[in-house]
Amino acid sequence: MSDCIFCKIANGEIPSTKVYEDDTVLAFKDLSPQAPVHVLLIPKQHIASCDDIAPDNSAVVAHIFEVAARLAKEFGLTNGYRIVNNCGEDGGQTVKHLHFHLMGGRAFGWPAG
Ligand code: 5GP
Ligand code: ZN
Repeated sequence: MSDCIFCKIANGEIPSTKVYEDDTVLAFKDLSPQAPVHVLLIPKQHIASCDDIAPDNSAVVAHIFEVAARLAKEFGLTNGYRIVNNCGEDGGQTVKHLHFHLMGGRAFGWPAG
């Protein structure tokens, strides 16, 4: 998607502070962190939202969660952390490229929002 900022981050057109990268997944620091650790995990391929996860693209989502667990260990989040996906208008999604927020380093309230 030529006008998608996370596609541009994935292909290097827009710089980011990367914390993990492989063939299918990229993780980078959120520009506006809401916690001491706030990383975004994205599939490199454009998937618009959680609503678009289907049998032919869902493997990368499982892989994202493996990477998230690895990063949580690397960032020392031994007391827990939160993984968030905002989907669509009511979910508060602002960037229309599937992403998961990995946040930690503080306690979070519930329910969110
Ligand atoms: P959403 O609200 O869609 O769940 O989350 C989008 C997230 O992307 C926000 O937390 C926002 O701070 C982050 N973000 C938006 N644009 C950029 C950018 O260009 N670079 C980085 N690193 N994060 C961004
Ligand atoms: Zn995209």
